[in-house]
Amino acid sequence: MFGGSPAVKHELKRYNVIGGEELEAAKSVIETGVLSQFLGCWDEDFYGGSKIRAFEHAWRQYFNAEHAVTVNSNTSGLMASLGALGLEPGDEVIVSPWTMCASATSILVWNAIPVFADIEADTFNLDPVSIEKNISKKTKAIMVTDIFGHPAMLDEIMAIAARNNLKVIEDVAQAPGAYYKGRFAGTVADVGVFSLNYHKHIHTGEGGVCVTNDASLAERMQLIRNHAEAVVEDKGVDNLVNMLGFNFRMGEIEAAIGIEQLKKLDKQVNRSIYVADRMSEGLAGLKGLRTPVVKSDCTHVYYVYPLVYDAELTGVSRTRLVEVLSAEGVSISGGYQNVHLLPIFQKKIAYGSRGFPWRMDGEESDVSYDKGICPVAEKLHDESFLCLPMCLYEFTDEDVDSVIEAFHKVWRHMDGI
Ligand SMILES: *Cc1c(COP(=O)(O)O)cnc(C)c1O
Repeated sequence: MFGGSPAVKHELKRYNVIGGEELEAAKSVIETGVLSQFLGCWDEDFYGGSKIRAFEHAWRQYFNAEHAVTVNSNTSGLMASLGALGLEPGDEVIVSPWTMCASATSILVWNAIPVFADIEADTFNLDPVSIEKNISKKTKAIMVTDIFGHPAMLDEIMAIAARNNLKVIEDVAQAPGAYYKGRFAGTVADVGVFSLNYHKHIHTGEGGVCVTNDASLAERMQLIRNHAEAVVEDKGVDNLVNMLGFNFRMGEIEAAIGIEQLKKLDKQVNRSIYVADRMSEGLAGLKGLRTPVVKSDCTHVYYVYPLVYDAELTGVSRTRLVEVLSAEGVSISGGYQNVHLLPIFQKKIAYGSRGFPWRMDGEESDVSYDKGICPVAEKLHDESFLCLPMCLYEFTDEDVDSVIEAFHKVWRHMDGI
């Protein structure tokens, strides 16, 4: 910033989990010529080809879930799982403002209404107290995200759901392999939805997997994945609610790659934890900086490395801090996002121009997306939250040490900044 050399001296190596095993797996599929074996009718191939089935089998075994349904993205999986619950237009689903937008838009896809509850200041996950405050007569489900890699308060949330007769979908895109009280995140709620998008711990380019122990939900997700309307009659499915189909099918190449990727999940998760622990040790004690919180009986798999900064204790604004750390070569950003403040919710314009589904049948939903409904999330975003991406770079020990040194250098010079 003031002319010296930056603490992080070279560009970090791009995170890459794809190797020879994936190359061979993809090649073996290509050699067969059968790149997808799904058929959108009631046929043996309704469930997909051999790689899809083998991948789903491996996923079930690894996560100890009774059913695994592959899809072409986590977004598709969220849509399939919410549809499977049997949501009616106008039903409300409680969701976090701190998640990727798909957790909320997948609710709108079924013409249901997202209702944003606030988050906890320590793990940034949905706050059970705020969930309860937001339950109305119309609430049918809770969409809970394990944000940044730390599981949400799943027992408390499942208990709230049980008391209020709600279903729970867990968006576990950022927390594959995280543990919650001895169980894998994603296997606690009614359905857990994983992402295999390029940016995650492990990936197949694009892809996702839904897991559940509920056979009926699994069947309904399989139907929504694959042209339900053309299948229900021959399959003998009586419940036609939300049985309008999409094409959410994963290809055989992605499934073959996924089988290899799953074998690497444990290693990639341990690598994230190792890097984050080293970071936390190095950053401990810096005035006004709070390193990540990990609750007892949980593991944090650090999709990103979240920090909370108190500018009042240092006298340097967060904006200025990000500027200075960036000048030192640290890839860091201030704030996260508050999904409720996106234009789609602010203007309540989604389908067409007349406010559907908030406005339908001559009635208007009273749900509010005003700034102020999620004070904890909004304040963190506006003032104190910082994050370092963890699945963007490889992070050798030297890389981590140089990032730590950048923070210490900045803190040593706080007075001059
Ligand atoms: C990445 C992500 C998604 C979307 O995943 P896709 O597979 O890209 O559709 C959804 N929710 C969260 C929390 C994510 O991090």
